[in-house]
Order: sequence, then C-alpha cells, then structure tokens
Amino acid sequence: MNPSHPDVTALRAALVEHARDLILVVDEASRIRYASPSAQALLGVDAEALSGRVGTALLHPDDMDVARLALARLVQHPASAETFTCRVRGEAGQWRWMEACGSNALAVPTIGGLVFTLRDITAKRELEGRLEWQAFHDPLTGLANRVLFTDRVSHALSRRSRAPIDVGVLFIDLDHLKKVNDSLGHAAGDALLREAARRIQQSVRAADTVARLGGDEFAVLLEDSSAAECLETAERLLTQLTRPFVIEAREVVCGASIGVALADAGANVDDVVRDADVAMYVAKAEGRGRVVQFAPAMRAEVAERLLLGADLRRAIAEETLAVHYQPQFDLARGVVTGAEALLRWMHPTRGEIAPSRFVPIAEQAGLMSELGRFVLRTACRDAAAWRGACPLPLGLSVNIGTRHLHETGVVADITGALSAAGLPATLLTIELTESALLQGATPAVGVLRALDAYGVGIAIDDFGTGVSSLANLRTLPVRRLKIDRRFVTALGQPGADDALARAIIALGGALGLTTVAEGIETSAQLAELRALGCPTGQGYLLAHPLPAAQFIAAVQDGALQRHGSALVGALTAAAAA
Ligand code: C2E
Ligand code: MG
Ligand code: MG
Repeated sequence: MNPSHPDVTALRAALVEHARDLILVVDEASRIRYASPSAQALLGVDAEALSGRVGTALLHPDDMDVARLALARLVQHPASAETFTCRVRGEAGQWRWMEACGSNALAVPTIGGLVFTLRDITAKRELEGRLEWQAFHDPLTGLANRVLFTDRVSHALSRRSRAPIDVGVLFIDLDHLKKVNDSLGHAAGDALLREAARRIQQSVRAADTVARLGGDEFAVLLEDSSAAECLETAERLLTQLTRPFVIEAREVVCGASIGVALADAGANVDDVVRDADVAMYVAKAEGRGRVVQFAPAMRAEVAERLLLGADLRRAIAEETLAVHYQPQFDLARGVVTGAEALLRWMHPTRGEIAPSRFVPIAEQAGLMSELGRFVLRTACRDAAAWRGACPLPLGLSVNIGTRHLHETGVVADITGALSAAGLPATLLTIELTESALLQGATPAVGVLRALDAYGVGIAIDDFGTGVSSLANLRTLPVRRLKIDRRFVTALGQPGADDALARAIIALGGALGLTTVAEGIETSAQLAELRALGCPTGQGYLLAHPLPAAQFIAAVQDGALQRHGSALVGALTAAAAA
C-alpha cells in the first residue's frame, strides 16, 4: 500500500479487523449485527457466532440496566456518545470487565446500527481491587486493618441512632510476641501472629469484625452484645491465646492482655477505641494475662502513668535517682551484717515517689533493666567503698525486677557491675520475687545457675505472697528466704495468726536456707523471731533505709552497732528475768 495514497476503504476495514478492542454493531433491540474478530481473543468466542445474539444478554445481570439505558439514550439522541463499564461473559464463563463506548450510526448507510467499542479493563480493575483490599486489610493475617476497623465501628455507632444496640470493642495485646521474635526469629513471630488471628476469628461470630491494628495488637468489634457478653467473649479469647502455640515444631506460650469497652450513649469512634486501649493498658500494667473492663477513672490514671514514665526516663538519664541502704542485722547478736539497696526518687515537683508506685511504671515502660543497671552500678560501687571503711565484710542485697530478670543481658549486667566496682561476687545477693521466677516464656533457671556459679547469692523476696513455689526451692540455687512483712507483723500480736511465719522459718531451716525477716517494727516481733530461730532481719525498729554516706558513718562510728546490741541486750535481760 502506498502510504501517500492509501486505499482508505481497505485501511478502515483492516483497522477494524486488527483492532484489539471489540467493535460491535447492534440494532435498536441490542441484537448483534456485526462483531469484530477480536471477540476471539477477548472472550474466546468466534465473531461469527455472536451474530444474531442479544448483546445485553451477554452482560452480568447487575450491568444490564446501565447498558439498556445507554442504548435507549443513543437511539433518542443520535448525536450523543455513551460510556459505561460492564462485565461481559466469556466463552469459559469468566467475566471480563469492559469499558464500553457507544455512538449512533443508524443513519450511516454502510453501518446502519449502533456502534459499541469495548475495551478490556479487567487487569486494571483487578489491580484496583487489590489496591483497595490492601488499603483496608492487614497483608500478614488477612484481617481488617485499623482504617477498616474504625470505619466499621463508626457504622455500628451510627446504627444506634435508629435502634438501641450495644457496641463493644475489645483490644488485645499479645504478651510475649517480642520474645518469640527475639529467640526464634521473625518468621516464627509471623507464624504466631497468623495463628493468633485464626484463633481470634474462630472465637467470635461471623458478623463480628476482627482487625489487626499493627505489631502485636488486635481488635474486635462486637455489635449487639451486652457488657456481660463482651466480657465472656474476651475471657474466651484469653483462654484461646493462652493455650501454647506450636511454631516450627516448638511449643511457645504467648498469652494476651485484653481491654473491653462499651460505647456510652453519644460516644464517637475515638472515644470507644481509646477506652478499650486504656483498659488494655491497665490489663498489662496489672501483670498481663488478664481481661480488664474500662472504667472512667482509668483515663486519669493512665495519663498520670505516662507522665511519670517520661519523668522517670529523664531521671534515669540524668542520674537524679538515689540508692539508700537499709541495714540488715544478725538477730541473735544484734550485729550489722549488710544492707539492702532501695531506690529513692525525689521528683522535682511532686516530691518523693515510692518504689511501689514507680517500679510498676518502669516495668510497663520497659525501663526496668536501665533502672536495674543504675542500681547495680551505684550499689556495687558504694559497697566496695565500705570495704575500705570498716573491718567487717558487709553484704549487699540488690532487688532485680521481673522484666530485667528475663532480659538476655541480665547476668552480664550483674557481673559487669561487680567487676567495675571490684566487689567480690560472694558479697552480693540478688533479691527476686516468686512471681518474677515463674513468669515469662523462658525460665529464669539458667540465669540463677549462672549467677550461683559466679558466687552471687539468690534470695526470694516477699516469700509467701506469691504463687507458692516450694517445689522449686529444692531445685533452684536459692540461699535466702525473705519473710514478707505481713507475716512478721502478725508475730508478737496476741491472738494474731503467726503460724505462717513459724512455718516459713522452719521450712527455711529444713532446706538449709537463711531466713531474713522483713519489716520488724516492734520489740515483741524481734523477740518472737529470735525465739523461732530466725537468723537475720531488717526493719524500722533496727534501722530505716539511709543514704550511703549516713549508712557508712553509722557503721563506722558504731551507732548502728550500739542500737542493735541494746535491743538484743534488753530482750535477753527480759527473757532471763
Ligand atoms: P522490698 O524489696 O521487699 O523492700 C522492703 C521494703 O520494706 C522497702 O520499701 C523498705 O523501705 C520497707 N521497710 C523496711 N523496713 C520496714 C518496716 O519496718 N516497716 C515498714 N512498713 N516497711 C519497711 P521501699 O523502699 O518502699 O521499696 C518497696 C519495694 O520496691 C521493695 O520491696 C522492692 O520490691 C521494690 N524496690 C525498691 N528498690 C528497688 C530496686 O532498686 N529495684 C527493684 N527492682 N525493686 C526495688
Ligand atoms: Mg527486697
Ligand atoms: Mg520484700
């Protein structure tokens, strides 16, 4: 063909024959009069076979009306053009998305029909669908994401304007995902998340929305559920998530903390979602592995904890915390044998804040190991200085928090502080609570054995207040049992139940452990402890916790010694009389 003098008619025919789009000529009743050969490629149908069929009959039922309407408009307004999208059924029964463009050529003698050009946009639609899915779902678990979840909650709340239904939101935080990630790797963590998602989904109704909000956080929207039903669902979820997970042929325990909130009248999405989040935060702060229902007072408490957490972080960085020392005495002779290091925080505006307040905040904020390293460093340095200042070797006890105990570097933190200060390991005792020993996915046994081998002593603090771990005592390298103050308080009080203190002291003796009485406040208690054979003790009667300089001054000038001897002497005299 000569490009400058084309055979226009042949060119046009060839263009239609080779067009990738499907060109259809239909009559006013939508009957197909001509279909271009691309019908084969696009729909798998021979173009000839389409001739005579009703065009709209090839469409998806949902798209027929749009097509009929476009056809009618083209007939009525011959100069107009009509564009719409529709699904056309292919030979194999598959639907193809088409963008249809129609014009009226009824008056054109060679055509005499309505012309539709159909372009296949299936791939584009699928991509759009995938993008839309991704915008609203979590790719790892296939659950709704935060955007979709918020949208569903918002819809549920708006339905309440028509009918008085309850809307409940659960926030779920997996307790030990980080440990699984750290010890088994991220693929194992992902497998755990997928399995957790499956368990959550299976524990709720099909109509409830389950979402992954990110990291180890999930949420559930419960519509038409009373407070009691929401709590019941939460407890069921907790049971499911507490069951061991089998990941890469290993059993791991994860557990969860769950917050439950019901939407108040007039509450918006942000209110109910924040309330569930706050309740979950409280569940974690109260020791994890539990369900907590939101109460309005929690809001203030959480805000306060966050503020204190930030202040504490600063105090650690600036080393404005102090370590005080409470003397410990040999109860038989009234001699000082060592001291327990106790943290003190003087807040710049709020005054002194007790450890019972800030230790849980530090645990929650992940500050416990930093705090622990600070105390170890300071206390070991102070204790090393005492060695030069007084002839007797004084023991040092340091408390280690639950989170710190389960951190990988805890043994290095302890041995590092000892060697930096030049303090012999045998002078140090680490105090751990019973619950700290039992918590966590990885048992602390290895840590205890390593410390024991290094020469560091282990004491169980507040003994008798936690889950009784008597069975553990035989197998763990524990050297001391600290009798909780509440049992000591009961001693020497006429009519009070002192059986527990007696039993603990007897048990300690039988196991070859040193019992240390905590919180001795009266001479009567001291007398009773001596009579029961408790070898060591501390308490306000003997001495309050003191700043390092005052403690060592009181040791050096003999003030503590005189006080201890006087107390013991008076008791011995009274017993003789
Ligand atoms: P704990 O280890 O059982 O420490 C003994 C607590 O009893 C101390 O309270 C001490 O001041 C108090 N105490 C001593 N004698 C008496 C007494 O005769 N009567 C009364 N009522 N109380 C007495 P403190 O210093 O407020 O510490 C409370 C808890 O905070 C400690 O209990 C310990 O669990 C934790 N803690 C303190 N310092 C640290 C630390 O450096 N690290 C960690 N992880 N925890 C710490
Ligand atoms: Mg202690
Ligand atoms: Mg204690």
